Amino acid sequence: MRREQFNQFKTLLKRLSENSPFYRRKFEEYGIDINKVQSMEDIQYLPFTTKEELRDAYPLGLQAVPDEDVVRIHSSSGTTGKPVIIPYTKSDVDVWAELMGRCMETAGVTKTDRVQITPGYGLWTAGIGFQAGVEKLGAMAVPMGPGNTEKQLQMMVDLKSTVLIGTSSYGLLIAEEVCKREIKQHIRLKKGIFGSERWGEKMRKRIEDELGIQTYDIYGLTEIYGPGIAIDCDEHSGMHYWDDHLYFEIIDPATGNVLPEGEYGELVITTLTKEGAPLLRYRTRDLTRLIPGQCACGRPYPRLDRIIGRTDDMVKVKGVNIYPGQIDGLLRSIEGVSSEYQVVVSHIDGKDVMTLRVEMSHLCNKIDIETMVAEHFKKLIGLSIHVEALEVGGLPRSEKKTKRILDYRDVG
Ligand code: ZN
Repeated sequence: MRREQFNQFKTLLKRLSENSPFYRRKFEEYGIDINKVQSMEDIQYLPFTTKEELRDAYPLGLQAVPDEDVVRIHSSSGTTGKPVIIPYTKSDVDVWAELMGRCMETAGVTKTDRVQITPGYGLWTAGIGFQAGVEKLGAMAVPMGPGNTEKQLQMMVDLKSTVLIGTSSYGLLIAEEVCKREIKQHIRLKKGIFGSERWGEKMRKRIEDELGIQTYDIYGLTEIYGPGIAIDCDEHSGMHYWDDHLYFEIIDPATGNVLPEGEYGELVITTLTKEGAPLLRYRTRDLTRLIPGQCACGRPYPRLDRIIGRTDDMVKVKGVNIYPGQIDGLLRSIEGVSSEYQVVVSHIDGKDVMTLRVEMSHLCNKIDIETMVAEHFKKLIGLSIHVEALEVGGLPRSEKKTKRILDYRDVG
């Protein structure tokens, strides 16, 4: 696999320097001689590609093939400024369908399944990607698109859909409606495949219980095909990703250094076979880790852990990167504390000091909880911190996204 991967990588570099004006300019700017790349590990000496650069290339500055080879474009939504446009060749569309088909298969979808697809169709990729994968596998696609819950439920009942694809929030809404209307006995759903937006264990469990299904996390981003580049299997111990088409690295988002397998950092993706808009070391801003070892299911594909947050959420204290997702996980493993927390970082007497405020049940002993959380934190994240345990309800709640990290180091 590694040898094949390196050959693909060399071919990619050649294609980029010959056919992509975007990368030719970048290689020149950085003085890169692609002939000096001797191993897959040498990738760490090549420059990253960022979302800002993709935006600056609007509309078609990323295109690396002649116009006659482009069969479609997709676009990622731009919350600020210009969107990113990604051109696809026939081969890109086929590979994407194959990878998505593989995702379906990994989640145990078969030809006799009926798959209700609720993500949107159009410029934003999701719907059509799922549809292509379902058809590639040979199952029956029910291409609903988003919204109209009334109709969704009617089709789900009448067509006896067995798989639901969507966002986890839509999965929850469907689960609640099914419960409210008391139509669970008419529903034939077995599986839910939900986009890997961050969703807690509690939400997952509610959807699974109320609909009586198994759920699978699927990962992807428009810049790299779209959804379908990783998914969990029945073991639910991380998402398998397709290393015959993609090369994943985890870097320290602050320094850009590649991190060893098992450590949390920012996911960086290189497309090995993509033609229309190949990307070299694309910084996804998603925080996760590569899981060492082979999965119990026996599949040869390596695994990526769940996304624990975005690089924008990260805070660095005494040289250690701390991600909100890690704290979520840590608190879940401790009895007697709630899932709410607040991090306060300040600079006192020339040193960074971090205080973690948590909420504890009134039955617990304050000193015990504070000691236990601090010990867990030290063991898991490698940093000595102060812990302050408050009664449940002691931390601020907000309808919108709660600000959990307060960094006072730059103030004054
Ligand atoms: Zn597996």
